[in-house]
Amino acid sequence: MSAFLAPEQAALKAKAREVAQDTVRARAAEVDRTEEYPWDHLETFKDAGFLGMTIPEAYGGQSKTWLDAVVVIEEMAKCCSIAGRIAVETNMGAVSAIMAYGSEEQKKMAADMVLAGDKPAICITEPEAGSDASGMTTRADKRGNQYVLNGKKHWITGGGVSRLHLIFAKVFDEQGNFEGVGGFLAIRDETEGLEIVKREPTMGLRGIPEAEIEFNDMQLPPSALVMPPRGLKKGFADLMTAYNSQRVGAGTVALGIMEGAYELAKDWTEEREQFGRPINEFQGVQWNLADMSIRIAAAQALIYKAAESGRDGFPDMVMAAQAKIYTSENAIQVVNEALQLFGARGYSRNLPLERMARDVRMFTIGGGTAEVLRNVVASGLLQKKLPQTRDGYSKLAARAAE
Ligand SMILES: Cc1cc2nc3c(=O)[nH]c(=O)nc-3n(C[C@H](O)[C@H](O)[C@H](O)COP(=O)(O)OP(=O)(O)OC[C@H]3O[C@@H](n4cnc5c(N)ncnc54)[C@H](O)[C@@H]3O)c2cc1C
Repeated sequence: MSAFLAPEQAALKAKAREVAQDTVRARAAEVDRTEEYPWDHLETFKDAGFLGMTIPEAYGGQSKTWLDAVVVIEEMAKCCSIAGRIAVETNMGAVSAIMAYGSEEQKKMAADMVLAGDKPAICITEPEAGSDASGMTTRADKRGNQYVLNGKKHWITGGGVSRLHLIFAKVFDEQGNFEGVGGFLAIRDETEGLEIVKREPTMGLRGIPEAEIEFNDMQLPPSALVMPPRGLKKGFADLMTAYNSQRVGAGTVALGIMEGAYELAKDWTEEREQFGRPINEFQGVQWNLADMSIRIAAAQALIYKAAESGRDGFPDMVMAAQAKIYTSENAIQVVNEALQLFGARGYSRNLPLERMARDVRMFTIGGGTAEVLRNVVASGLLQKKLPQTRDGYSKLAARAAE
């Protein structure tokens, strides 16, 4: 058990491990094969108290910390990546942005929906605006007492199963003046103009749909706008701080997957005999296991530290980025090595290693690529903006001269 955890957290982790091993693990291969969202896990989570744990008690949650959520996600992901991702998105990301910056009405609605089993979707990425989210073209035009949204998002996790959507759009006033990027809440099936267009055929993580979503003259009242304290102009940056929790969560799923793969491989090296002895009697295999365990210990320490940095708010941006980069990259490596230790069996769909290898590949991409997150880390270390556009530095210089 980790030295980082308080006794209650260690107990929560043990409970999550039991639930994951008793219920979740048995369905992991089927969820991958059928590509069907595991609604039954939502019931399991509800019964175990793992849904909306980080939601404040005042709204029906348990006011748990990010680290509490992390230990649950970690245990789920060891057995099933999809269960891990559901635990992330019902405790972090969109729901945490709403809890931090939403109106009373928005907080109550989001809490009720999540506690009843909805996994909210967060809609930022567009076909032409990925790493450069500020290049989004989805727009919300104020017309009378409504906002009218038009645009397209893609790779939206949960598109088609999520009901609550947090949608980022450029906001324009009645005169067509740009006011900033805003986050709007819309409920699928209750909002005309929100259309799930198609599902992506993904390499792994097949139990949650990744969807393209269109907004065609979708009308929303101003009360749908999540308004952070600094208003619309700087509000996007505020809303994105909530994404630091999601990044820690995504890193935790990668951590769980690599731990799961390592545990399987370690046991197998004792069981499998070649040349008349268990393969873990070969020094090459022993050092391999040692290196895997070092990567896991380092990744876990970074994730736990990043989670704890958010005790009084959201996790620190640099720590969350460092943790996600290190964990996602090393998880790919560890899963690959674990698969190798199984020989041909590792390549078979009869064992979970090939599924883990497909699933784990995502985490250096979604939620900010490892490259773009290195920019975030560097910017934090150097304590200055590092514009990526060709004219970015000249714009900064001009602003400084004003
Ligand atoms: C499974 C999955 C789930 C996702 N879920 C969601 C979701 O729920 N909501 C959502 O909004 N989005 C989601 N995404 C989208 C994800 O956030 C984006 O894929 C990601 O931000 C990268 O954008 P892109 O795919 O357009 O790649 P691009 O931005 O086109 O990048 C292509 C390559 O260029 C590199 N690159 C780009 N800019 C730079 C730079 N300045 N410096 C160095 N390298 C750079 C990137 O690192 C990458 O290797 C998801 C993606 C996946 C795969």
